[in-house]
Amino acid sequence: MPYSIFGNKFTQHSGITELMDDLNEGVQGGDDILMLGGGNPAAIPEIQTRITALMQSLLDEGKLTQTLSNYDGPQGKTDFIEALAKLFNELYDWKLSSENIMITNGSQNAFFYLFNLLGGNYNGEVNKKILFPLAPEYIGYADASVSEDAFVAVRPKITELENGLFKYNVDFDALKITEDIGAICVSRPTNPTGNVLTDLEIHHLDQLARDNNVPLIIDNAYGTPFPNMIFADATPFWNNNTILCLSLSKFGLPGARCGIVIANPTIIKAMANLSGIMALSPGSIGPEIALPLVKTKEIITLSDEVIKPFYQAKANKAIALLQQQITTPNFRIHKAEGALFLWLWFKDLPITSNELYKTLKEKGVILVSGHYFFPGLEQEWQHTQECIRLNYAQDDDVVERGVAILAETINSLYESKSAL
Ligand code: PLP
Repeated sequence: MPYSIFGNKFTQHSGITELMDDLNEGVQGGDDILMLGGGNPAAIPEIQTRITALMQSLLDEGKLTQTLSNYDGPQGKTDFIEALAKLFNELYDWKLSSENIMITNGSQNAFFYLFNLLGGNYNGEVNKKILFPLAPEYIGYADASVSEDAFVAVRPKITELENGLFKYNVDFDALKITEDIGAICVSRPTNPTGNVLTDLEIHHLDQLARDNNVPLIIDNAYGTPFPNMIFADATPFWNNNTILCLSLSKFGLPGARCGIVIANPTIIKAMANLSGIMALSPGSIGPEIALPLVKTKEIITLSDEVIKPFYQAKANKAIALLQQQITTPNFRIHKAEGALFLWLWFKDLPITSNELYKTLKEKGVILVSGHYFFPGLEQEWQHTQECIRLNYAQDDDVVERGVAILAETINSLYESKSAL
């Protein structure tokens, strides 16, 4: 079937589609598949109990039916937007009004709007790109533009730390904001690495963005104040030139598809127009469920007291398992500063990370090959073929069995390499 240029672009193979297919298989595949891929958050009992109780009271009060019976405006549910503005103003004094916030169908949807608003062809003259100042970056950005060649990325500086850990930092010497940059975008904490850009890095990026008159997009899907999956010191950041994207997904509601964007009123107006055309209005279930949590600030206490410690403990457990079982001295883990992933680096890996992914899939373990996470990086770099991402959010038993198979596979790969 012949398709348009748009059709061809969006029907070709993409990493994010493969990932979501794997995720679906893994979620439905029961005990046969050890799902350490995907970005699915954990089913945390306290959170699930609270969400169930909230839905029950909405049902009892008739609010759920009312919500489902009505469209919201293209900017999203007004009560929720006002409650969010109040929450952020009380927490950080950002002086937001409802003109600064909109709701989207998940933050993935917001990135599609943003990348196509700010990147691509401007008046037939310049083709502007979205700049990722620190590769590796989130796989889901990779195809989220109708333009070809829409992204550019910069290799990080790598610092080796004690105990087999390492950390990426922005290489500001290599970072150039040229005329063809339409926006700068970072995830903080970063998917896939669990890196958290330091306050200094964020201030430096903000300065560069303002000096060059381009917005700074900060993807806060795992960040503060909710779901607060951050284990390093990081101050929340927003100003008039920042587009801050949040989500209810990692709080425990990925099926609700609820993203939140905080930006200046011009950007919000433009995105609301896009939303009207592409979706009429964003879904209202997530906002309705989360509204009481935002109004009472319970969303913060649950994030601080339940979600953050849950993931921190999981991260520590997974690191200990990996370090006990993977014996090669070529193994490194990116310092776990947040999110729900560990980023594993196997120096001089005898096969590519994609081959490793396939081998592991045959053995029933799903991880994600690291090579997907370098959208916009033009230079050849061996490192892109040496890393894999592990999601440690699933049940301990699944993580333990998955790590055992991974360790056995890696150990025998390096052993056979040294035997040659
Ligand atoms: N940003 C990052 C860094 C992510 O990891 C994800 C999902 O895994 C998203 C955005 C999109 O999340 P959602 O569309 O569920 O809000």
